[in-house]
Amino acid sequence: MAVLDLKRKLAILSDAAKYDASCASSGSVKRDSMGGKGVGSTDGMGICHAYAPDGRCISLLKILLTNFCVYDCAYCVNRVSSNTPRARFTPEEVVDLTLGFYKRNYIEGLFLSSGIIRNADYTMEQLVRVAKLLREVHDFRGYIHLKVIPEASPALVNEAGLYADRLSINIELPKDESLAAFAPEKDLGDIKKAMGAVRVGVDAAKEPARKARPPKFAPAGQSTQMIVGADGASDGEILKRSETLYGAYRLRRVYYSAFSPIPDSTARLPLQRPPLVREHRLYQADWLMRFYGFERAEIIGEGEDLDLTVDPKLAWALRNRGDFPVDLNSADRERLLRVPGLGVRACDRILDLRGHKRIVLEDVKRLSRGLAKLKPFIVTDDWRPGGLTDAADLKARLAPPPKQLELF
Ligand code: SF4
Repeated sequence: MAVLDLKRKLAILSDAAKYDASCASSGSVKRDSMGGKGVGSTDGMGICHAYAPDGRCISLLKILLTNFCVYDCAYCVNRVSSNTPRARFTPEEVVDLTLGFYKRNYIEGLFLSSGIIRNADYTMEQLVRVAKLLREVHDFRGYIHLKVIPEASPALVNEAGLYADRLSINIELPKDESLAAFAPEKDLGDIKKAMGAVRVGVDAAKEPARKARPPKFAPAGQSTQMIVGADGASDGEILKRSETLYGAYRLRRVYYSAFSPIPDSTARLPLQRPPLVREHRLYQADWLMRFYGFERAEIIGEGEDLDLTVDPKLAWALRNRGDFPVDLNSADRERLLRVPGLGVRACDRILDLRGHKRIVLEDVKRLSRGLAKLKPFIVTDDWRPGGLTDAADLKARLAPPPKQLELF
């Protein structure tokens, strides 16, 4: 087998890591510096952005230890039957790269995942070794996000938590039967067991200290990724799975990753990726569950899909017009949070302002980017929506106009 230089390995293993969305930056436009114009690129691989526990946006070196894998998950370009170029770092090489990039100020941390080499324990040992070397030998204080191999022994998962800031275990697909069909070597029971073990570790580390301080364990918690659009799961089924994961394992985040068609894949997988707006709507619905006090069942039924034309909060308000308009001068926080177009910060600002003055439309204009979207649903000292709240064409008035598709 040809020996690859470090640069080539980095190219292969950073590209292979791009399918993992659990620390991906998103929402930017595509830019590159091809043709000698400008510096940098938003679609390059290798460095991604994540949010540290204190809310700072940090850059991470995002790579796989190896894209060799003994498993054959149908949706994955690294599966054993895939004809993709392979590479493998040693733990020491990952350590050197991380320290090198860190010292040159390119990154503030590492996101490390891997295909399964030999078996789960061997792979997990290698991942843990990287984190251990960084922390113990080099006193590395940057951020480390490690992927947990679900079938690895609990002792190794526990060790990973002692060195990593965040651990993630990918649930992969929203439905049990899809996982069985597309990832036959994976076992949902193992995935849940590993998530449970991480939760126990995180909870134990937070217990108030008695005699001795409990050791730190994944202080940034755990996250997971679900692939959207590979199986026939509805948005309702996807969000139901997320609701269960947040409740049972106290995940910090579920990441939704639109399925990317891969070469030579089975005919059971779709040929096209789902529209990106679907991924976006799922994130919006997820935020409603985590920060706005919505139950999943209020947003969407199990067998339903989200409306792609309007955001899920507006869709809920349009279905529940009897709850509106909301008086911004008297409503409690819970009701304010349900108003389409009002974010958490704007609601808190309104509550603050109410201690000093009566709220008028001009205040709302300063706090929100879309006054037109808000007006049918609110009352202020100088505004009442009248019949606008119940107007039959309200959705059409508020939905953004459809975009003309580009032909060339
Ligand atoms: S175990 Fe992970 S890397 Fe291996 S084929 Fe499955 S998804 Fe891909």
